[in-house]
Amino acid sequence: MTGGVTSSLGKGIISASLGKLLKSRNYSVTIQKLDPYINVDPGTMNPYEHGECYVTEDGAETDLDLGHYERFLNEHTSSENNVTTGSIYQKVINKERRGDYLGKTVQIIPHITDEIKKRIQLLSSKKNYDFIITEIGGTVGDIESLPYIEAVRQLKRELKEKCIFIHLTLVPYLSAAGELKTKPTQHSVKLLLESGIQPDILVCRTEKELSEKLKNKISLFCNVDIDSVIQSIDAESIYKVPILMKEEKLDLVVLKKLNVSHNNKINLVEWTNFLYKLENPKNNIKIALVGKYVQLTDSYKSIIEAITHASTHFEVNVDLKLINSEEILENNLCEKFNNVQGIIVAPGFGERGIEGKILSVHYCRKNNIPFFGICLGMQCAVIEYMRNVLGKKGASTSEIDKTTSIPVIDLMHNQKQIKEKGGSMRLGSYECKLIENTIVSSSYNKKIINERHRHRYEFNNNFRELFFSKDMIMSGYNPKNNLVEIIELKNHPWFVGVQFHPEYKSTVQNPHPLFISFINSIIKNYEK
Ligand code: GLN
Repeated sequence: MTGGVTSSLGKGIISASLGKLLKSRNYSVTIQKLDPYINVDPGTMNPYEHGECYVTEDGAETDLDLGHYERFLNEHTSSENNVTTGSIYQKVINKERRGDYLGKTVQIIPHITDEIKKRIQLLSSKKNYDFIITEIGGTVGDIESLPYIEAVRQLKRELKEKCIFIHLTLVPYLSAAGELKTKPTQHSVKLLLESGIQPDILVCRTEKELSEKLKNKISLFCNVDIDSVIQSIDAESIYKVPILMKEEKLDLVVLKKLNVSHNNKINLVEWTNFLYKLENPKNNIKIALVGKYVQLTDSYKSIIEAITHASTHFEVNVDLKLINSEEILENNLCEKFNNVQGIIVAPGFGERGIEGKILSVHYCRKNNIPFFGICLGMQCAVIEYMRNVLGKKGASTSEIDKTTSIPVIDLMHNQKQIKEKGGSMRLGSYECKLIENTIVSSSYNKKIINERHRHRYEFNNNFRELFFSKDMIMSGYNPKNNLVEIIELKNHPWFVGVQFHPEYKSTVQNPHPLFISFINSIIKNYEK
């Protein structure tokens, strides 16, 4: 799956939708993303640069498209589902240093392209997938994409009819001319052809319906069968796209092109039910998400999607207000949270905006507003309680105050040695034991859970006795290293802070139990 004309056409969603359709026909599918940037992984990138960093079970920091893959397919991805130019070069250069190339000149072709091909096929050595959808990031014609385009060109020679190319392009509408224009698509296909790739299927992103005449024109000029010119019209929700792609028969065209007999019936009952509920909410609730990367909703993608999954379960629409924590002050809390029925304090890094997050927790605790603190959000709840209930005014996290005498959130011993920033946090899935008769144990209805982490700092166990001496309780901990993973407040409608990131595991089919419980508490609290 390549993209042309512009970025942001939704390759990730089209890949995930195609994957969903094939999976609904009972095929095994996985999706991978090849990212042409030089960073080894997006873990070191600012969310403004890249959007959210999505963390897999095995602790890889990956592109946010992998989140879409998991949410659509309801299956885990892994570090192998995301490849970057940085990781490819790192591998090749390490091999060169070891002398693996036996004196040869190391070049983009064949060494880099071989490594790319290896990474594309690695997934099939793990599981016998019927389909692997490989999405190449960026836009054809980018200098960075060239080795990837060349690698898939070579792969097609090797795999022959087992491999097809789908190209996603834009068919823009020129309002002054009152017309949809096919020229950008033609040029984009021409660029692909220059690299030796003839697309088999064109998915054309458009804001208006493509007429038969226009499809014919694209088919003729781009040398693509008429049934392989697929319209992808703007949709109100990303969850509508699989249905639109089914109507356009994208899955059937793919099966036909790959000579797969398509007797498998499609089953999209659950998906359509979800979509119906999403589009026909019975009620409305208002939630605030407090964070500092609020200009870009991509920074909190998984949280926003997890809210959608859970609210759709209850057939309510969530009016989500993104609030910049830097703008929250003691004297504007009521104004900022006017009519807000539940508050999520978001994950984050560094000092900026942290005091606003702590004030938001305070507001929830004092006013009985359901509160959900995620990672840094949980750490803020710990600091707030320490300062305002236990009277330790100087309490802080050593992330922002290295000299605090009360580092209630602190680096663990094994993190203190670490100097490198890349891939060095506590990452991926860890076990957590739940304490009985708590909000979380009834939400999960389990004794042991596994959740994904991405942080360096932890609750400092030296303060454990003091911290849990009143109405704050520890409701989940790591049984191996005894770290506090979940805190919750008694005598409050719903006040939960989690050190992990539950949002990564929420899918359309399995909305996350904590988000379900949080939304449920808001509905109940409001009714009351
Ligand atoms: N900055 C905090 C830490 O590293 C929290 C990270 C996060 O919210 N993901 O522990």
